[in-house]
Amino acid sequence: MMELTCFGKYGPYPKANCACSCYMITYGGKHILIDLGCGALTRVFTKLGAGDIDALVLSHLHADHMGDALTLRYALAAAKRLGRRSAPLPVYLPAAPAAEAGLIAAHEMIDANDINDGGKHDICGIDVRFALMPHPVPNYAMAFQADGRKLVYSGDTQYNGNLAGFARDADLFLMDAAFMAKDKTEASPHVSAKEAGRIAAEACAKRLLLTHIFPEYDEKDIRAEAREMYPAAELIQENMTYEV
Ligand SMILES: [Zn+2]
Ligand SMILES: [Zn+2]
Repeated sequence: MMELTCFGKYGPYPKANCACSCYMITYGGKHILIDLGCGALTRVFTKLGAGDIDALVLSHLHADHMGDALTLRYALAAAKRLGRRSAPLPVYLPAAPAAEAGLIAAHEMIDANDINDGGKHDICGIDVRFALMPHPVPNYAMAFQADGRKLVYSGDTQYNGNLAGFARDADLFLMDAAFMAKDKTEASPHVSAKEAGRIAAEACAKRLLLTHIFPEYDEKDIRAEAREMYPAAELIQENMTYEV
């Protein structure tokens, strides 16, 4: 059974004493971090040391998803020096933008693996697949499948026709809901909460957890909007763990 823990759910900046996008899958005693946004590393360290992280997957290279990965480099180097970690950390990330990718991939304690549209990796015994989604920089939705269960994370995405198919029958669908419909324009880089609900309904997802919460919104309004399309929609909660 996979477990999903939320360390941060805000974007594009955190609420006071909160954190941007960061989640952890625990499976078979292994710990996989998904995104590592600003403010999240302090929460990760309440559960794991830098020597205990088995893999990191980055949906895309915006600071609210990878900012603390830059700081993690220093903790990995210290873990090596202190004898707490010998092997580099496997990190799965987009190759673009190249400048941001290079900041992470070039570090001696990081074993960088490019992710691609349609790509498939075995990460700690989990079948992980990636699908490119429209966003100002390449963003990959990701599907984690193990023991007949499926967890899908959208990353950041504009509305598009591919995500519902990719998320089909997900047991847990963790979905960007950065905008309220009233504030969204054609050029907005994210879906609205209503569109998030619509995609989850089209995908026949068994559970929808909304994330990428704009800190200035009232969470009840976001949930209500998503529930117009997906009546059981909930917001993910920081420091909570969910069974998949
Ligand atoms: Zn974001
Ligand atoms: Zn983004």
